[in-house]
Amino acid sequence: MSKYWNKKINEAEPYVAGEQPKAGVKIIKLNTNENPYAPSPKVAESLAQFDISELRLYPNTDGGELVQAIADREGVKPTQVFCGNGSDEVLALCFQAFFEKEGNTDLPVLTPEFSYSFYPVYESFYDIRAKKIPLREDFRLDASDYAGVPNCGIAIANPNAPTSRAISLDDIAFICKSNPDSVVIIDEAYAYFAEPYETAVSLLPEFPNLCVVRTTSKSYSLAGLRIGYAIASEELIEGLKRARDSFNSYPTDRLAQKIAAVAIRDEEYHKKCRERLIATRKYTEDALRALGFTMPESAANFVFAKPPKGVPAGLLYKKLREKGILVRYFDKDVLRDYLRITIGTDEEMRALAEACTEEIKNVQNS
Ligand code: PMP
Repeated sequence: MSKYWNKKINEAEPYVAGEQPKAGVKIIKLNTNENPYAPSPKVAESLAQFDISELRLYPNTDGGELVQAIADREGVKPTQVFCGNGSDEVLALCFQAFFEKEGNTDLPVLTPEFSYSFYPVYESFYDIRAKKIPLREDFRLDASDYAGVPNCGIAIANPNAPTSRAISLDDIAFICKSNPDSVVIIDEAYAYFAEPYETAVSLLPEFPNLCVVRTTSKSYSLAGLRIGYAIASEELIEGLKRARDSFNSYPTDRLAQKIAAVAIRDEEYHKKCRERLIATRKYTEDALRALGFTMPESAANFVFAKPPKGVPAGLLYKKLREKGILVRYFDKDVLRDYLRITIGTDEEMRALAEACTEEIKNVQNS
């Protein structure tokens, strides 16, 4: 609290990001769903060749090479692409541009009961009424729960975080069709890790109310660069630009645009990392299940795992931390029975499995 802050800031409940350890501390970091592999080697070449005199000039946010690289990759027009400073910023602008403030409407925004924890932060910060739609057994999202519920918008992460489960394109089409007067945001931060890979971008020709949000942070290994993007109808993209230009017209810088464009164009490397990560995820799921963990089938670069009976997730989280392994623990509702574990390298996941084996034994013998 501060007398210098306004009421909104005094009352804000900001997002709490996963811990970022200090530089130089040796840790196995499996807590913020970053990619364990380096970005495309072409990024280094591009950086070496970067002409610093370009930095004199403001960036071309809408017509530059990044927008073109995304449009080429996704098979859409450049006017259907919007780039921002990480998908967190893109999502924040979506909430501001497409959802209505309490006072202007009584209708809520619908989100799954357990989903990306930034959504409730945006809702409360932008004074948007919220309604959480319960998930079914084992965190399954049932699309029919999103039909016939009056709303001023819908936001769904697919695959969902922290549950790791994905819904089908048929489900997304059903939700868009059932809510023709609302914008449906599909947050595809983890879409590239689903097997098989599917994207709601393929539904855009049918649904002018669909907004697909993506990021280079996860599958492109560029979380430190801060590039996210939306792909949608020109009408929605225009709305996002109006929101952006009421706040900061240059959210993505020249260097970041260049690097992200190079990484997005290097599909061969992207595919290789994705395949490696999916194989390690399989190893991790098998190893944890063999130890008695249960978890939904993951379509993301993390698993949402419940330790065996008698081993509290909160305790295991602490014990792993003492061993230098950071995973994410949400001490809330049913989530407190689970650990969200990012998929790292094979070696890191072997170390995780060994540490879990040891700690489970300790708890069971105590
Ligand atoms: N959506 C989801 C579901 C996420 O888990 C994250 C990562 N915390 C983001 C969006 C934001 O990613 P970024 O801002 O790095 O693009």
